Amino acid sequence: MQNDCIFCRIIRGEIPCIPLLETDDVIAFMDIHPVNPGHALVVPKAHHPTLFDMPSECGAAVFDALRRVGRAVMQGMGAQGLNVLQNNSAAAGQEVPHVHWHLVPRFEGDGHTLWKPGPCADMQQLQASAKAVRALL
Ligand code: 5GP
Ligand code: ZN
Repeated sequence: MQNDCIFCRIIRGEIPCIPLLETDDVIAFMDIHPVNPGHALVVPKAHHPTLFDMPSECGAAVFDALRRVGRAVMQGMGAQGLNVLQNNSAAAGQEVPHVHWHLVPRFEGDGHTLWKPGPCADMQQLQASAKAVRALL
């Protein structure tokens, strides 16, 4: 945990939240700026800035919480769908540098779009991108 991290402070009980679930490894609470009613956050208790800093062993507890809370959010809100979102670094829209997952219930016709698809890819470009990525795997 880090002293000045807002999610660490919530985990320590120094800042209030509206809780949904707490386990040994994970907490889930309502997002303060909900995209839709029921928007929740799943947060590992250990402080890791991004997905790439988090040990893989933490993944099972996160996955369990995502499924458990996600199902309850969907049913509780009467939603027809659910987006699970996770941002890494400011360029990707991460505001709180303590790794977390968004559970956003979705309703038919709610008007939200995640992103605008680009034009159909140039195959040479796709191959070049894939080659650069595969070289690092
Ligand atoms: P990010 O952009 O880092 O993926 O998302 C951070 C989320 O945390 C935002 O959706 C924001 O509304 C939420 N958030 C930021 N500060 C607080 C807080 O103090 N309490 C709660 N419940 N949510 C917060
Ligand atoms: Zn933290």
